[in-house]
Parts: sequence; structure tokens; C-alpha cells
Amino acid sequence: MLVANWKMNGSKSLLLEWIEVIGSSLSGDEEQNLIFCPPVCYLSIAHDLINKRNLNIKLGAQDLDPNLETSLTGGTNGSMLRDLGCKYVIIGHSERRIFYKEDDKLILSKLNSASSENLDIIYCIGETQKEKETGQTFLSLKRQLDVLAESNARNYSIAYEPVWAIGSGQVAEFTYIEEIHSKIKEEVKTFKTRESVQILYGGSVDSDSALAILSLDKVDGLLIGGASLNQKEFSQILLKTLNK
Ligand code: PEP
Repeated sequence: MLVANWKMNGSKSLLLEWIEVIGSSLSGDEEQNLIFCPPVCYLSIAHDLINKRNLNIKLGAQDLDPNLETSLTGGTNGSMLRDLGCKYVIIGHSERRIFYKEDDKLILSKLNSASSENLDIIYCIGETQKEKETGQTFLSLKRQLDVLAESNARNYSIAYEPVWAIGSGQVAEFTYIEEIHSKIKEEVKTFKTRESVQILYGGSVDSDSALAILSLDKVDGLLIGGASLNQKEFSQILLKTLNK
């Protein structure tokens, strides 16, 4: 499973080119393992383009507003995302936790809301540089996992994204990724609702590192930010990894 997270980037013209190039680099079977998460304003156009070209790429949103009933200026809730053709939603990305000050309570309500709308959740967790340096990594991850355990969410995967690796050009060491993924899998076994889970790695993955990371033990997929924006770079990643 590969997730392309465009974050707050892109344009209509990039979207057209991207779908064209990526669509021609994939075969039907592979497409279903690709989840494309453009900014919310491009979801509808992306949906139309994907349908027009008969592609099987899945659409995901980068966030959702948990309010289904209150009318809130600027909000986009899970029901609207479904209406736009989304099957997936990213929740808990560190940029939202840090810059939008999303706390555990808000994240819990987003998880519950996404689950009640039958959206598949890509739940992001990660430790900061400081937490890593002070030996708090697993404590921090456990706190973020506790929110997931407390929620009603059933359909989810977890994206382990060390905060210090996102957009920094610094991929976590391979042994470190394996160790953390293994600990997360063990922790999820203690959840009442799930015994196993797919874990994606995210943080400065590019076409040089993608295959090696995806080949690591306990790595089930990749969440790719910066490198997913360049269609040539991203199709290289797809070519190298999707047959794996
Ligand atoms: C991300 O945005 O979640 C991410 C992993 O970004 P990048 O690949 O640019 O580090």
C-alpha cells in the first residue's frame, strides 16, 4: 500500500499531468494499492479524472472535520468526503498535531467520526526529535496509540512517521524502523478490537530508498509526501515497489 500525500501543494494542471503519468505507469492490480490524497479542493477533480481514465486509484482526504451536525464555516466532514469519492482519510498527521494544535481529544473525535462514516483511516503517529533524544519514543507512540485503542475505529492502518524525518531528507535508520514497527504491532495486539494491523513508514522516502524500506520486516507500505508531488519521481517509486 502506497499513500501519496500532497499536503498543501499542487494545482489543477499538476493534477492533470500527475493522473496522466501515474495512470500510465500502473496496471489495474497495482492501482488499487495506491491511495492518492490531494488537498480537499482537488478531490472532486481528481475523482472525475480517475473515473474518466477508468483507473482504480483510491482517493483519500488529508483531514476531516468531526462535526456531522453542527454547521461550521470552513469545515468538511466525513460524509462530504465520501460524497466526493474518498475511501480513506488521514488522521493525526504531525503537521496537524503541531501547527493546528490538534490534541488527543480532537483526534479521538475525528477517529470516531471517520469510523461512523465508514472511511478507512490512515492513523499517523510519530515521535519528535526531543522525544527520541530523551528516550521517550515509545511513551509518546503509546500515548498516540491509546487514542486509537479508545476509539470506535475498526478499519485502519497506522503510518509511523518520525516527526524529525518528515520533509527533512533524513530517513530513519532501517533497524530503528523495524524495531518501532515491531513494537507498534505488539501494542496493537493488546487492543480489544484488532489483532493485526498494516504499518506504513513515512518520512523522506524517495525513489532511492523506497524499495529498501518496503522490503524491511514489518513494513507494509509507505506514506510519501514531497516525493509524491513529482510525477516522474513518484512513478519511479511505483515501478520499483508495487510489484513487491
Ligand atoms: C508526510 O507528509 O507525511 C511525509 C512523509 O512527507 P515527506 O515524504 O516529504 O517526508
